[in-house]
Amino acid sequence: MNDHTIAVVGAGASGTLASVALLRHTGAHVVLIDTAPTGPGVAYSTTCPRHQLNVSACSMSALPDEPDDLLTWLSSHGHSYESWEYIPRALYGSYLAELPARIHRRGRLHRVHGHVVALRPQRSGSGLCLAFADGGELHVGRAILALGNSAPSRLTEHSSLPRDRVVDDPWAHHTQCRLRAARSVVIVGTGLTAVDIAIGLSRAGTPPAVTAISRHGLLPRAQRHGPAEPDRDLGLRANPKLDRIVATVKEALAEDRSRWRGVIDGLRPRSQELWQGLEHSEQLRFERDHRAWWNVHRHRAAPESADTLADMLVQGVLRVREGSIASLGSGADGGVTLTLADGEQTEYDVVVNATGPSTRIQDSANALIGNLLATGQARPDAHSVGLATSATGALIDREGCPSALVYALGPLRRGELFESAAIREIGMQADALGRLLARTPASAPSTSPSADGSSSPRQGRSPSTAKRQRRLQLIKRLLQLDSRTSRAQQRARR
Ligand SMILES: Cc1cc2nc3c(=O)[nH]c(=O)nc-3n(C[C@H](O)[C@H](O)[C@H](O)COP(=O)(O)OP(=O)(O)OC[C@H]3O[C@@H](n4cnc5c(N)ncnc54)[C@H](O)[C@@H]3O)c2cc1C
Repeated sequence: MNDHTIAVVGAGASGTLASVALLRHTGAHVVLIDTAPTGPGVAYSTTCPRHQLNVSACSMSALPDEPDDLLTWLSSHGHSYESWEYIPRALYGSYLAELPARIHRRGRLHRVHGHVVALRPQRSGSGLCLAFADGGELHVGRAILALGNSAPSRLTEHSSLPRDRVVDDPWAHHTQCRLRAARSVVIVGTGLTAVDIAIGLSRAGTPPAVTAISRHGLLPRAQRHGPAEPDRDLGLRANPKLDRIVATVKEALAEDRSRWRGVIDGLRPRSQELWQGLEHSEQLRFERDHRAWWNVHRHRAAPESADTLADMLVQGVLRVREGSIASLGSGADGGVTLTLADGEQTEYDVVVNATGPSTRIQDSANALIGNLLATGQARPDAHSVGLATSATGALIDREGCPSALVYALGPLRRGELFESAAIREIGMQADALGRLLARTPASAPSTSPSADGSSSPRQGRSPSTAKRQRRLQLIKRLLQLDSRTSRAQQRARR
């Protein structure tokens, strides 16, 4: 491997889309690395046919410049869906898994199964050395981090509880089997993860009694059956204050409550810009006062999922309540006793942690994130939810300098970008990164394109001095651009 190789760490949806963008826009060799041997990440590895996308098929193309790509793929594989329907996530996983080979058949994508624990910039200034947990190393020109969300924070200290009674990873493959054997399950969290778990259990022969608890007790609202409502343009211009945004949304909702989805969706294309235009204190106020409301209206359940939930609620198989957990303890019948802050105490067979990704990047169990923070190659964003990045996604180090070699995309940027975990945003970031890296070649490429468009090592020849200088100038210009944009971001935050 060499300077003209780009490593993509993480082969979930973000890593897949980043690899595809690199294959489309650059001539680089791409090494796609993941600890998991299979599957395009957490969301799309499910095998449950009732786990659907919560966005309709027409808006889920992985290629921003080819909005019909998913619909074309579906019909070419014999699946007949209306463009506004919600397809199973497992099917979307197959679409993602096939995408790299469909885009590029010339062998520039190399898959590696391994756990990256550190990135070491080379002394010579050219490239990086990736260190793996098993002691292996890989030399590459640049790297893109597509590490996904952090695992949920632990519910409480529950080391004394039987391990099989507390599910900390709701996405683990064996979770559903474990839960189906239970008579009673309590899900901590009432968002889309909780919806997935409840729906998975609705298929069991004798479903366990399910209770879902969160501080607000709100379930995600439902998507509409049939085509989506048109997006409303709320006319918010030029960095409005939070109060103005909230007042405008309320007015629009009051005008026609039945079209509330169009109001929320109308904000979406501008949500990153609106978020970045807020003062830090306003962002904190949004998190405190409006986040829960926003989440259930913005992150809606597919119509069929919402119908299943409604049936479960009517049948009494599912109960949703508001409350915060005071403690977890061993129950008299071998289960877990959950005590709420209001004093209510109930014993359940199993407790599932569906509280969502941890919101403190410093607590991440991911060794690579820990190493990047410890070595100062990265620093937390202003909310400590993810990593600080420049406008182009370059990692910002402890001193505030953007990296010329390491980039991030997807959920790692959600603290800064607000919306950074859905396919639409990930696809756009991946595409922009692919185009950026094509314009700014690695510091000292040691490969050249061969006749078939792929790259092959160039033995015994180095690029001419003039070429090298041109590249250095290009990199300098990129660095200047990056420091300007990161300074602008810092000013905006202040
Ligand atoms: C249940 C669910 C449903 C969703 N539904 C939709 C939807 O309908 N529409 C939509 O637009 N979005 C949806 N999303 C959001 C979005 O698509 C996902 O958040 C997205 O898949 C994130 O992908 P990712 O690749 O960033 O993360 P992940 O899927 O978590 O992948 C990260 C990968 O990185 C690997 N990794 C991490 N660290 C290392 C390391 N150090 N070395 C090697 N490998 C490493 C992990 O093993 C993992 O495979 C959904 C999300 C969830 C969870």
